This record gives sequence, C-alpha cells and structure tokens, in this order.
Amino acid sequence: MNQDIERVKVLIVGSGPAGYTAAIYASRAGLNPVLYTGGQPGGQLTITTDVENYPGYPDGIMGPEMMEDFRKQAERFGTKVRYGMVTAVDFSKTPHVVTVDDQVTVHADTVIISTGASAKWLGLDSETRLNGKGVSACAVCDGFFFRGQDVAIVGAGDTACEEASYLANICSKVYMIVRRDEMRASQIMQNRVMNNPKIEILWNTETEDILGDDEVTGARVINNVTKEKRDLKISGFFVAIGHQPNTEVFKDYIHMDESGYIKTIPGSTKTNVEGVFACGDAQDHIYRQAVTAAGTGCMAALDAERYLAALENH
Ligand SMILES: Cc1cc2nc3c(=O)[nH]c(=O)nc-3n(C[C@H](O)[C@H](O)[C@H](O)COP(=O)(O)OP(=O)(O)OC[C@H]3O[C@@H](n4cnc5c(N)ncnc54)[C@H](O)[C@@H]3O)c2cc1C
Repeated sequence: MNQDIERVKVLIVGSGPAGYTAAIYASRAGLNPVLYTGGQPGGQLTITTDVENYPGYPDGIMGPEMMEDFRKQAERFGTKVRYGMVTAVDFSKTPHVVTVDDQVTVHADTVIISTGASAKWLGLDSETRLNGKGVSACAVCDGFFFRGQDVAIVGAGDTACEEASYLANICSKVYMIVRRDEMRASQIMQNRVMNNPKIEILWNTETEDILGDDEVTGARVINNVTKEKRDLKISGFFVAIGHQPNTEVFKDYIHMDESGYIKTIPGSTKTNVEGVFACGDAQDHIYRQAVTAAGTGCMAALDAERYLAALENH
C-alpha cells in the first residue's frame, strides 16, 4: 500500500495520565506531538468512579471526567490525539518506525511509551458487573471508600499482603482469600498479615461468586479441600492477583523485567534505546497511581525535548 509516511518529533503511545501529561508538556514546548490513544482512551481511570486523591480536585472527580480534562488540556496546546493502537515497532534505526493498526506507518524522532498496565481479574461475571461498585483492583485508590467496613482481598503475593495491611488500617476487618495453603509473598510480608489481628486469612479458599445487585454485599467462598462454602458479609472486594504491563509490542527492542515492566535508567525515563522513553504504569510496578504516572509523563516529555535539542546541536 502506498502512503505518505508521516514524520513526527514526538510520538506518544497511550492516553492515560502519563501519556496526556507528556502531551501537555511536549505541545507547550512546541514539539507538535501526536498521541495514539490505544483501545482504552483515557486509560485505567475510565473504569473507575470517584478519584479523590488527585491534587487539584478538592471535591473529587469521576475518573472518566478527569481524563476528558487531561485530553482537552493536551489538545489546547496542539497535541494531535488520534484513536489507534500501536501494533508494531522497529526501533533498530532512526527515525523510529511505528505501525498503527497494522496500516499506518509513522516515523518518529522520539517515542514516549505510556501504555500502562492492566489489572488481572478472577474472571467472574459478578466481578465485571460490580466493578466500581465495590469491586476494585486498587486498595490504595479505593480502600478509603470502605473505611470502618468489612472487606475481602484475593491474592497471596507481596502486593496482596501490602494491600491487605493497608486496608486493615482503614477497615474494621479484612478477609484475605488465599488459594493454596501457602503464600508466594516474602516471609516478612506474610508475617505482617499473619500478625495483624484485623486480617483473617482464609487458606485453600477460592471465590465462587461476589454477591450483591447494585453494590457488593458479600462474597461466596469455597474451601477447595473440605468443599465447605461460606458467605462473607463484606462491602468491598479487592483483587490483588497481579498486573500485566501493556508492553508486548516493544519486547524485541526494549529491556524489560521478567514481568514485562520496562526498565528505565534510574532518575530518568530513558530506555535502552536512544530516543525512546517510558513513563507511567508501563515502567512502574510499585506506585501505580495517576499522580505518579503524570509525574513520569512530565519527565518523559522533558527527556524527549532535551534529546531533540542535543540532536539539533550536533
Ligand atoms: C479501578 C481502578 C481505580 C483506580 N483509582 C485510582 C485513584 O483513585 N487514584 C489514582 O491515583 N490512581 C488510581 N488508579 C490507578 C491509575 O488508574 C493508574 O496508576 C494510571 O491510570 C496509570 O496511568 P498510565 O498513563 O501509566 O496508564 P493507563 O491509565 O493504564 O493508560 C494506558 C493507555 O495506553 C493505551 N495503550 C495500551 N497499549 C497500547 C498500544 N499498543 N497502542 C496505543 N495505546 C496503547 C491504553 O489505551 C491507555 O490509554 C486506579 C486504577 C484502577 C484499575
């Protein structure tokens, strides 16, 4: 197929807080960025309701509305926001070659990867139906809504232990649902949950169903050894079984850890490829918050700007 190949200075991949913040900075710096939204325009916050911890919104804001604000702010300074999924890249030469929707080829002097990560879910229908209505994959984000109430959390890794401890500080009781008779978490994290009187660990236990019509009222769990069933009376159900960074398409060129999180040079957003930068949850398995994603998005735009300036001065 013949096409005019577009050349851009800054190509931003992803439209969550990281991508849009990078776009705001790059466009205000006169770099005319092009941003591809991917399949989830606005990113993870579009599947949540109230966001109460993003500075600047004293009364809180709905996630989708906040991301509309981000988009408008990026467009105000000239960012070209386009619907499209990056399906292939060739970072072996400069300019970098990026293919969108298997059809459009873009040549980019710099690429900012802000493709985020997706929470892993149990796969229950009730989990999907009650998502945002008591079901959450982020204790730090949503735990506060259940203060003084009973909740459950599924998972057995370090993150699950950390989130269970976090919830125990806010909620009156935390059931920790663990599929096997042991945990994957480090011993120190296990000790922390085991010694917390507010956390009850349900070993060998799986979730059959999350209960409730319009909001979570309970969870039906089954002991996979005794087959005994039990209904937990809870108002929040947290899933902490891991995240999958959306980085597969870059894996032939970009260094990543064993889970697929992009490795950046500490103190920067630089990857192992010159001119390719990574920000937000795609490179952060620790903090995973909108404000940290936005912060690294800003860093990526500044890193890209400096890289381009250095190229011009050569
Ligand atoms: C239910 C829930 C509630 C949350 N609540 C809060 C909260 O209250 N406060 C808070 O601070 N944080 C909250 N978070 C966490 C927050 O949403 C994330 O930390 C933040 O969205 C990460 O931003 P990001 O820009 O890195 O990526 P994301 O928001 O994950 O966005 C990734 C973007 O990349 C795009 N993309 C992916 N692959 C491609 C591709 N191949 N080509 C093009 N585009 C692609 C996607 O379409 C998407 O637009 C919550 C998360 C969830 C799941």
